[in-house]
Amino acid sequence: MEDLDFAVRYPFSSQAKAALDSSATQLNESIMFMGSERIKRGLKGESGKSAALHESDKINEIASFAAARMLLAFLNNRFITNKFAVAESKRVSSYLDSERDGATIAKVGQELGFVSEKEGDSYLVPIPIYLSFSPRALPYKLINREVRNGRVVVSPHERVRLMEEAVRKRLERVPLLKDPPKIISDAGKKLVSELPKSDLPQVQVKPGDYPPCIIKLLDSVKKHENLNHQARWFLCVYLMATGMNDEEIIGLYSNLPDFSERITTYQVQHARKKAYTAPACATITTWGFCCADCRIGSPIYWRGKGSGGRG
Ligand code: SF4
Repeated sequence: MEDLDFAVRYPFSSQAKAALDSSATQLNESIMFMGSERIKRGLKGESGKSAALHESDKINEIASFAAARMLLAFLNNRFITNKFAVAESKRVSSYLDSERDGATIAKVGQELGFVSEKEGDSYLVPIPIYLSFSPRALPYKLINREVRNGRVVVSPHERVRLMEEAVRKRLERVPLLKDPPKIISDAGKKLVSELPKSDLPQVQVKPGDYPPCIIKLLDSVKKHENLNHQARWFLCVYLMATGMNDEEIIGLYSNLPDFSERITTYQVQHARKKAYTAPACATITTWGFCCADCRIGSPIYWRGKGSGGRG
């Protein structure tokens, strides 16, 4: 039973696979429905914990994760997959945060290829593993970290954050499902027909109209990759300076896997109200977003007019 609870909490684990195998659960319409609902919750950014009480409910819940993965493999839509990966990784993170047993966290880490060693109140993570799973945020940059004998010192909270990233990265990889069984293709088509069509405007980006650092960030947005807060802020204030309106910026950010219209609207309006200006190239370099030597002092002087792609 304990193994089953572990499998519910960590449905990507080998325990979950074993639980499904031993239950001999078959794909049926009810499981496919649960898988679709799981994806829809992910698209809304919902990552609530399981409410399953009975063994059969728990098995169905694990199966719904497998069904969702099969649907994602059929849909082959990076945006939906990445949104699902973000929501599921946050769900795992909230479980890890509440685990009292260090052995359980270590077991999850093992599943993810993540190892760490306790030392006092901290954990030591080998550099290659740290670099594979560290979030793209300034405090996690290796240059800002304490390193001891090839291992990075992290707090218990940071260790969970790294594992959350490991889950997200794992779930973003979905093998293409060729010739899916009819039950999957039918459920996939139904799911797509039920998804709300965003009425937010999308912005056309013309390459060459923006400095390289902005092009790189826009490229990440287009690929539905996550941007850290600093990158979002920089891109937002730059685009504002080029004349883009709030709706267009929010529409662009709707491509991000963890997009929340409410939070993004607040942040964009806040940046507008404060009339922030884009930072100098020197600052952008320290943030790690500079990728060329344009010699213009600030990206706002790109082509000497600061009008970006609006002209
Ligand atoms: S030099 Fe300035 S404008 Fe050019 S890529 Fe770097 S930060 Fe951007």
